[in-house]
Amino acid sequence: MADCIFCKIASKEAKSKTVFEDETVIAFRDLDPKAPEHILVIPKKHVESINDFKESDKNLAAHILVDVIPKIARDLKISEKGYRVVINTGDDGGQTVNHLHFHILGGRSMTWPPG
Ligand code: 5GP
Ligand code: ZN
Repeated sequence: MADCIFCKIASKEAKSKTVFEDETVIAFRDLDPKAPEHILVIPKKHVESINDFKESDKNLAAHILVDVIPKIARDLKISEKGYRVVINTGDDGGQTVNHLHFHILGGRSMTWPPG
């Protein structure tokens, strides 16, 4: 999608520190990390938010959750101590980039509830 920074990262028009990539998904380091490990996992195709996942995206959603996120956590060696996966959605959810992204945050202890 034109002017979407994460579409530009997916198409390599914009640079990112990529930690994982396959046909449908790319994961890269957050520009402004909120934890020692802070990765964003995105579908390469433009999906605005989790509200916009379609029936036909079930394989993609499962791929991200079942394959990609746990693999990245293993690679970063945060699987055992734990980590947090966050999907900010819409204004109240604090979403600032309107291309669906899964935050993986780790390398420190998290607090609850979130702000
Ligand atoms: P949100 O607030 O929408 O859940 O998260 C957006 C995240 O994207 C933020 O943590 C922000 O630091 C990150 N971000 C915004 N623009 C860029 C960028 O151009 N490159 C990278 N790597 N991260 C970005
Ligand atoms: Zn996009």
